[in-house]
Amino acid sequence: FLSLSLQAKMSRPLQARRLEGIDKNIWVEFVKLAATYATVNLGQGFPDFPPPDFLKEAFVRALSGENHMLHQYTRAFGHPPLVKILAQFFGKLLGRDLDPMTNVMVTVGAYQALFCCFQAFVDEGDEVIIIEPFFDCYEPMVKMAGGTPVFVPLRPKAPKDGKLMSSADWQLDPAELASKFSERTKAIVLNSPNNPLGKVFSQGELELIADLCEKHDILCISDEVYEWLVYDGKEHIRIASLRGMWDRTVMIGSAGKTFSATGWKVGWTVGPNRLLQHLRTVHQNSAYHCATIAQEAVAQGFQREIELYGKPDSYFVQLPKELQQKRDWLVQSLDAVGMKPIIPEGTYFLVADISEFKSDVPEVPDSDEPYDYRFAKWMVKNKGLAAIPLSAFYCGAHKNNYNHFIRFCFAKEEATLKAANDILQKWKREKTSP
Ligand code: PMP
Repeated sequence: FLSLSLQAKMSRPLQARRLEGIDKNIWVEFVKLAATYATVNLGQGFPDFPPPDFLKEAFVRALSGENHMLHQYTRAFGHPPLVKILAQFFGKLLGRDLDPMTNVMVTVGAYQALFCCFQAFVDEGDEVIIIEPFFDCYEPMVKMAGGTPVFVPLRPKAPKDGKLMSSADWQLDPAELASKFSERTKAIVLNSPNNPLGKVFSQGELELIADLCEKHDILCISDEVYEWLVYDGKEHIRIASLRGMWDRTVMIGSAGKTFSATGWKVGWTVGPNRLLQHLRTVHQNSAYHCATIAQEAVAQGFQREIELYGKPDSYFVQLPKELQQKRDWLVQSLDAVGMKPIIPEGTYFLVADISEFKSDVPEVPDSDEPYDYRFAKWMVKNKGLAAIPLSAFYCGAHKNNYNHFIRFCFAKEEATLKAANDILQKWKREKTSP
């Protein structure tokens, strides 16, 4: 028996070919490091404050109310009350009549929405354009579908007059972007507001992307999970609202980010039926559906928000207001110690330049590990402060071009941000004292 099973083990690889080269994952490593060493965790992107009361109450009502059918399966492509309200809500934003049954599909978080898109649209040999820095799962998801990711970086421009850099200073080079489109291009992934930089793409930038999509007849997978988290009066523009783009765009959202409840794992896609019908095929044959009670509660959350839309009591107005303040605190505390922040226009992430702190963590020439990985590991182990290296959001070939930045999450209680500030101040004092 033993020899048989050994033989079986050795005769061919256990894992499918599609997993080759994608077995390393930043989150597995850094979530574990944070759990082991961090006293202050500004690493992974989740709020340490509770979701709004109205949402928690809706969940409790769904859980313990009369309707015990909420404990059972619901419609595979989305619990009817949720798809109805999402169709109404996004229909209003896009100025278009949406059919809840064919233009909306609920997923297990935005993660599964992305997975459905790549599985549904990407074939062996297809290319998918990804703008760097990018939410890291796009690359392995494209590869798992048999596709080839093609990367194009946002290029930073130095700000004028010694001002702090803004995420708006990171821009696409139009000629470089255009050069990435080929006959094999099937789709482009757009993430605005962008994780990790916090960049909110301008109308002009979106039009540039839209024109290329039309010219080459390609799809746009538009990850908009941070759609409400936009600051300084900036506006989030939905690329699907641009001329000609509705028909070729899948919009992706997340209740995790929208209502500060990342653990609920409720996400959605909005788009034309000609695209969503294929997402339904993948979804039907993979997750099937997302927890009914969570969908019911999110539906009620949206019901409230549609009534309060644009009003001061709306959570979609209040949350960014609070987060903007938190962003400003973190900007100040990082700036004060010389860890230069790049001011994000959106999201709850902030990228900071660690160059001035390099003397604490010497470079190892010819190391396989990008410098920012080593720095972030050292920081959590020695200072108890967890952050994520920016190069995690770049493809292998480009990691070393962007290896002196780290990403912080500022969706945190005041006390957490204060504790981070204390660590940074103490560190700075230790550095300057002889
Ligand atoms: N897209 C982006 C850009 C994200 O930052 C995240 C979560 N960090 C997701 C998608 C996944 O969202 P969810 O938690 O709803 O699966």
